[in-house]
Amino acid sequence: MCEDIGMRPRILTGDTPTGRLHLGHWVGSLENRVRLQDEYECFFLIANMHAFTTRAEKPEEIRRDTIEIVKDWLAVGMDPERSTFVLQTEVPAIAELTWLLAMLLPFNRVMRNPTLKEEIEAKQLGDHYSFGFPLYAVGQCADILAFRADLVPVGEDQLAHLEMCREVARRFDHLYCGVPTTTEDADYARAGGVFPVPQPKVGRIARLVGIDGVQKMSKSLGNAIFLSDEAGEIKKKTGKIFTGRQSATDPGDIKNALFQFVNAFIADPERRRELAELYTRGEVGDGTVKQEVSQAIDALVAPMRERRRAYDGPAGEARIVELLHAHAAKANAVAEDTLARAKAAMKLDFGARTLMFVP
Ligand code: ATP
Ligand code: MG
Repeated sequence: MCEDIGMRPRILTGDTPTGRLHLGHWVGSLENRVRLQDEYECFFLIANMHAFTTRAEKPEEIRRDTIEIVKDWLAVGMDPERSTFVLQTEVPAIAELTWLLAMLLPFNRVMRNPTLKEEIEAKQLGDHYSFGFPLYAVGQCADILAFRADLVPVGEDQLAHLEMCREVARRFDHLYCGVPTTTEDADYARAGGVFPVPQPKVGRIARLVGIDGVQKMSKSLGNAIFLSDEAGEIKKKTGKIFTGRQSATDPGDIKNALFQFVNAFIADPERRRELAELYTRGEVGDGTVKQEVSQAIDALVAPMRERRRAYDGPAGEARIVELLHAHAAKANAVAEDTLARAKAAMKLDFGARTLMFVP
């Protein structure tokens, strides 16, 4: 039986250090992370190993972005006193689990994953991506399952990955733990499975479009407004949001990218309704709407920018490295325990081990 029953349910989610965090992250996942920190035992993971799958030749950038992402986390209110920050490369059990799970996922199942396909296209990886690139999808299953997470707050683009994770959790529990295939997803741990079948939790906006009005906002595609952008930068970027409108007196289409930003960031529902009506009738120009959007975004991120400043410079970076090191102990305690359980279920229990942490 699972020893975790009765404890707070767990969250695992995270970000790849391929750049700073943006508004899409906020509405897709960060808001939920901040809100759920008391209700859940939270593990927030920096997928720095996965950053190498597309940027192996840029270790300095990956290191810099790792630190930047932790700054973003602290800035938005993810709280290291209540939640555990996990640096993927400091948790060896995840890499081992990736191998074990890779054996339970058919190669074609991984390659059919629509999120991978979309990324290959959007990031123009062609047919020369590394072997490690599709493997990250399996690695992500291991990230989640290593912490035996119940809930995964993500944006819509991650649902295909999460479905694969759910499948592999079930398969493992059937094969090695004798959990009957008729078991309800919510009951896998109770039925003796090593892994609970995790549920996704999609944010308030499942997929925020980028300022290009085409792709999802993404840190690697040059179409993002970052949580750390200054007011001037936000103004410049919102000014570029593609609307497809020819003139300010044309009836506007409120299904366009600009109105996604209106709906996501202008807090007052009355004002949102009013703007939509005026826009549809051609009584308000893009420029006016963009200015309001820009002000609303700035009001949201200004306090984040302020909190972020506390970690500027080498002293700030040193504090972050220290924090990641300290949290690695807790992260490893959980992940090692999971791996030991998984290996025991697979008849691979040839002896216990303890990881050493050198201060
Ligand atoms: P990359 O371009 O490197 O893939 P990304 O911007 O897609 O970066 P990820 O680190 O892949 O960011 O995603 C982190 C989390 O943020 C995931 O849960 C993802 O679903 C969510 N997310 C990312 N972009 C958006 C978006 N535009 N709208 C909603 N959620 C998003
Ligand atoms: Mg992504």
